[in-house]
Amino acid sequence: MYTLVYSINNEKNPKTVYINLTNACTNSCIFCLREQKDDVCGKDMWHDDNYTLDDIITQFKEFANSAEEVVFCGYGEPFLKKDMMKDFCLYLRKNYPQIKIRVNTNGHANAIYKTNVAEEFKKLIDSASISLNAANADDYNEICKPKISNAYEEMKKFVTACKTAGIDVTTSIVTGFDNIHDIDVNKCQEISKNLGAKFKIREFITNGY
Ligand code: SF4
Repeated sequence: MYTLVYSINNEKNPKTVYINLTNACTNSCIFCLREQKDDVCGKDMWHDDNYTLDDIITQFKEFANSAEEVVFCGYGEPFLKKDMMKDFCLYLRKNYPQIKIRVNTNGHANAIYKTNVAEEFKKLIDSASISLNAANADDYNEICKPKISNAYEEMKKFVTACKTAGIDVTTSIVTGFDNIHDIDVNKCQEISKNLGAKFKIREFITNGY
């Protein structure tokens, strides 16, 4: 069976548990681990989306006793499996209400579905880490190679939509992935602040998240 649920470094009793819902994404970031390797900490992350909610639950149960936080992350954009994500959130809320739920997302969901996805998830996720990745649209397009139009602005609008839905939002940038792209960290921080979000700099790590 595919890796749908995993822990960093294959920890046996992890507090944070990661969910790998899909390999599809509306970005193709130049630092994306998918371009460089097939695994996170030895777990093969490729699959074809051919699984059921029960498959996720079965794998999750291996970690359920220690889990304090569940993060939708993995080798793709989690919101592209929005309905599966919603069903698993509902399962967690019902059976493990103490567990916090976070999504790591590229922030394209509202643009993709042309509806307010943030509002749909307002009671289902506690926090969102949204990839800002650049200080302007030109840099974003170069770094993230989005497959949707106006992606940078759409991503920022999604930050606002999540904030409005009462979701705790952190925007993030990745640094240290090559010697070519000089991310304007201060400008990114200012943009994040103006959007009312927290801000995180993630050093590129080869093991992945
Ligand atoms: S948004 Fe995430 S999954 Fe998608 S290409 Fe970028 S790093 Fe990879």
